Amino acid sequence: MVISVLSGKGGTGKTTVVAALSELAKKVIKVDCDVDAPNLYLFYKGTDIETGSFYGGKKAKINKSLCVECGACEEVCKFNAIKNCVVDPFACEGCGACTLVCPQNAISLEEEKSADTFLTKTDKGIISRAMMGVGSDGSGKLVTQLRKNVKKFEDDGTITIIDGSPGIGCAVIASITETDVALIVTEPTKSGLDDLKRILELSEHFETQVMVCINKYNINLEMTSQIEDYAKEKKLFVVGKIPFDKKVMESVNTLKPITAFEDSIARKAIEEMWIRMNDIMIEKGILSNTKIK
Ligand code: SF4
Ligand code: SF4
Repeated sequence: MVISVLSGKGGTGKTTVVAALSELAKKVIKVDCDVDAPNLYLFYKGTDIETGSFYGGKKAKINKSLCVECGACEEVCKFNAIKNCVVDPFACEGCGACTLVCPQNAISLEEEKSADTFLTKTDKGIISRAMMGVGSDGSGKLVTQLRKNVKKFEDDGTITIIDGSPGIGCAVIASITETDVALIVTEPTKSGLDDLKRILELSEHFETQVMVCINKYNINLEMTSQIEDYAKEKKLFVVGKIPFDKKVMESVNTLKPITAFEDSIARKAIEEMWIRMNDIMIEKGILSNTKIK
């Protein structure tokens, strides 16, 4: 059972929701697919039980001893990645065009490490995560690798919760593929509604049950109502409306899930959302009613 938590942009409270749901779920595995800004693991103390290297793509490399400085490679490179016979690895897209035009066969494409991957064991299950190298881009392939890394821990009773990449790029597609539920976290703003529409368009290509959570819903009740109307029109479940709560900031600053704050109104709303999500998952046959709460 896989739940992917998504948002159109960073800073919508997605990680707060993921950390809280992870506390509420019985047996959980977490995958931090927000590879450009991974911070889920900060909420947990744990031990790395597996580390690995991720090679996300190839970069051109010029063998100076063969190069006759003809400039053909610089001319053909559409990414302006070659200057004075030197490749800029941050600009190189690994397309290989330069290798084709080099009269000296002086250019080769070499695998470049773009991230370290970790499986971290915590008292609240395994977290799969990555630390990307400086200048590397978050890629769908890296997200797919992080998801693959936890496969061996998944069984009938586990819920895998994915902290998805924001936006609608490759990394998001890899976060949503083969998931049972996509929980879209949005805020009551015009851009929040636009982002919701964009992710929804994307998720329509996948067989996943979409649910919507409106974070800080009470900062703009008019926009909240517009989001609810849109959700109704699209037959989406608005499973949660989380009120603005100063305790969330305290939760982020102290790196404790919001569920640790007993008097938090956001905590209460997320608990109610989790019950609603479970009810829908049971009703839709995604989850057996023996495995929850
Ligand atoms: S591989 Fe492509 S992007 Fe990289 S330097 Fe060669 S032509 Fe440019
Ligand atoms: S095309 Fe080959 S020989 Fe010409 S400048 Fe580039 S690397 Fe050197």
